[in-house]
Amino acid sequence: MDCRDYHRQFIDFINDELGYHETSALVSHVLHCEECASDLKNEYLMIMGMRKLDRDQTPKNIHTYEEKIKIMTKKCRREKIFRILSVLFLVACTGISVYFFIKGLIL
Ligand SMILES: [Zn+2]
Repeated sequence: MDCRDYHRQFIDFINDELGYHETSALVSHVLHCEECASDLKNEYLMIMGMRKLDRDQTPKNIHTYEEKIKIMTKKCRREKIFRILSVLFLVACTGISVYFFIKGLIL
């Protein structure tokens, strides 16, 4: 993906509507691409500013851009750990099942 592809995801990112893989890719991109980080920050500030003006759509917790990136980074890290643990759990369950299946055949 190039910078233009990430730009198309900015609104969905700001609205927390991206999936894990897209969020993770976008966050790691903006942490290394100053131009996209600057554009995302401007878009984020503009949208949050408009939401603050619109009483009906004021979100309960409005974060700064830096807080938003930090929150999404932690969220991605937690999701990654959860996915790794899920796979390990599945492998362990399969191993235990196979062990008892083979043990049952032997006895
Ligand atoms: Zn970029």
